[in-house]
Amino acid sequence: MVCSMCQSPEEYKKFFIKEYTFWRIELHSNQCYLGRCLIILNRHTENLFDITTNEKDELFTIGSILNNALLKGFNPNILNYSSLGNDMRHLHLHIIPRYKNPVTFADTIFTDERWGHNPSPYNKNFEISDEVYNKIIIEICKNLT
Ligand SMILES: [Zn+2]
Repeated sequence: MVCSMCQSPEEYKKFFIKEYTFWRIELHSNQCYLGRCLIILNRHTENLFDITTNEKDELFTIGSILNNALLKGFNPNILNYSSLGNDMRHLHLHIIPRYKNPVTFADTIFTDERWGHNPSPYNKNFEISDEVYNKIIIEICKNLT
């Protein structure tokens, strides 16, 4: 089984937010949608409907906590959720805050260029500094209660 997420989990450390029993939260490396996160299953499976009852229960608990943290931290208009697995087969969900108007956070302007539409295709060239990544992670952690 070749899965880069299982083989090199340390590569994702930069964006690590919080570990739970069955899942972990990481910030998505592209922040063109401010606060975009991944909820990643700790063990390898490719099928959302393979998860156990305990994994499902924890997913919904984490999802609710993360939802609230993103709403409180960044005040998005809505949140999008997706589970696709085309590039990365290892089961993970995207939590994508969406913004009607540009948002300024850590002196950086985030503009949701696809407001009202599917989040993909998004700006793959969007870049922020490590300092801004850290501030986003700190803001999410602060509200993860
Ligand atoms: Zn895997």
